[in-house]
Amino acid sequence: MLYYSTRDTERKHPFCLKDAAFLGLAPDGGLFMPERYPAVDMDKVRSLADESFAAMAAYLASLFFGEDADAAVLDALVRDAFNFEVPLYELADGLCTLQLFHGPTFAFKDFGGRFMGRMSSLLNRGGDPVIVLTATSGDTGSAVAHGFWNVDGVKVVILYPDGKVSDLQEAQMTTLGGNIFPLRVNGCFDDCQRLVKEMFSDAELRSRVRITSANSINILRWIPQSFYYFYGWSQWCKSTSASRNAPDIVVPSGNYGNITAAMLAWKTGMPVRRFIAGANANDVVPQFLDGAPYSPRPSVQTVANAMDVGAPSNFERMMYLFDGDAAAVRSFVSGKSFSDAEIEAGIAEMYSHYGYVSDPHSAIGYLNYKYFDASGFWLSTAHAAKFSTVIERSIGICPELPDAFKRIMTLPRISSPMENDREALKAYVTELSCK
Ligand SMILES: *Cc1c(COP(=O)(O)O)cnc(C)c1O
Repeated sequence: MLYYSTRDTERKHPFCLKDAAFLGLAPDGGLFMPERYPAVDMDKVRSLADESFAAMAAYLASLFFGEDADAAVLDALVRDAFNFEVPLYELADGLCTLQLFHGPTFAFKDFGGRFMGRMSSLLNRGGDPVIVLTATSGDTGSAVAHGFWNVDGVKVVILYPDGKVSDLQEAQMTTLGGNIFPLRVNGCFDDCQRLVKEMFSDAELRSRVRITSANSINILRWIPQSFYYFYGWSQWCKSTSASRNAPDIVVPSGNYGNITAAMLAWKTGMPVRRFIAGANANDVVPQFLDGAPYSPRPSVQTVANAMDVGAPSNFERMMYLFDGDAAAVRSFVSGKSFSDAEIEAGIAEMYSHYGYVSDPHSAIGYLNYKYFDASGFWLSTAHAAKFSTVIERSIGICPELPDAFKRIMTLPRISSPMENDREALKAYVTELSCK
C-alpha cells in the first residue's frame, strides 16, 4: 500500500508505509492517506468478530498492511496489541455505547498507541535506533509510553508540563522505566509542544539523530482506530435495538482522528446511516457543520480536556474523505457542542436513570446521541476513574479505581526536570541517542 498527502491531489509523491509512518506529517504539511480503500468482506467481519476483536482486527490489518509485513508476524502483532475487551454496553433498550477504555491506560488512545509501537519496531527492524519525541497534556503521553514500552530499537521522550497533569496521568507516564524517558518541563503544554516542534525543525539535530513523532495524525495510529467500529457494528447488528444494519455512529471529538477513522471504515464498506461528532465548548466543527465557514481558533479549557482542541488537525482528512465537498459533509455528519454544565448534568442523568458512571468525554457522546435521537451507538473514550474530580462533583461519588490503577499509584516515579529551553532539550536528546 502506498500513501499520499491530502494536499497532493495529483498524486505525484507516493510514500511507502515506513516513510509515511516515520515522517508523521507529509512534507507538504498535509496528512497521509492510503492510496485506496480496501474492500472489506462484511460477512467475514461478522464471523471473525464472533471469535474475538483481535481475530477480526487481524483480518482488517492484513488488508491495509499485508503488503508490508509477513502475514503470520502481522497476525501475532495485532493479537498482542489488542489483548483487551471492547464491549458494546447496553445501558437500556436502544442505548448502547462501545467501551474503548479497557486497555492499559484506560482510554481509546491505547488502540493506536499499542499498534503503532509494535508496527514501528517491525518496520524499523535492523535500522538505526529511533527516538520518539512527544509533547503531552496528559493522555497522549501515557498511551504512547505504554504503546512503545519495551519495543526494540526505540526510545521515547515525553515532555509534559510540570505540575499541570493529573496525579494519575503522571503516574502512568513515569512508572514504566526502561526505554521511556519522561521530562517534566518548567512551562505549560504549549511550551512542551513548541520545544518538540523546534527539535523537528532543527536540521542539524535531524542530520545526526533519527527522531520521529507519535502524534495522533500518524497513519499507524489512525488506521487501526477504524477497526473497533467494525466490531461495534457487528455487535450492534445482533443487539435488540437494531432494526437495520446501518447505525448512527456518535463520537466525542477533539482532534477528529477518531471520527475520521470511522469514516475510513465506512469507505471500506461498513454501513453507516449518519455520523455524529460531539464537541465540548471548542465548537469550530459543529459551527462548520451548521453552515459557517471553517475558522480554527485557540482552544478553551473544559472538563473534557482531551477534547480541548481549537484547530483540529484531522479536519483536513474529513474533507478529503468527502472529496472536498462541504455540502456532502454537512448532509452526512452532524454534531453539537455542550458546555461544562451540560456535560456534568449529562453525567448526573446517566447515573440517576441508568446507574451508569460515565467519564465527561463519553458523556458528550451520550448527550449527542440523545439530542439527535440517534439509533446506533456512541463511543466511550475513557474510564470514569481518570476524571474522578468531575465525577464526584456531578454525582457525589468517587468512581472505583481499577486494580491496575491502584498498583500504578504505588510505584516509584522517575522523570527528569527540563528547562523550557531548546538548547537544553537538544543536549538531552543528543546524549540519549549516544547511550
Ligand atoms: C483524545 C481523546 C478524545 C478525542 O479524540 P480525537 O481523535 O482527538 O477526536 C476524546 N476522548 C478522550 C478520552 C481522549 O483521550
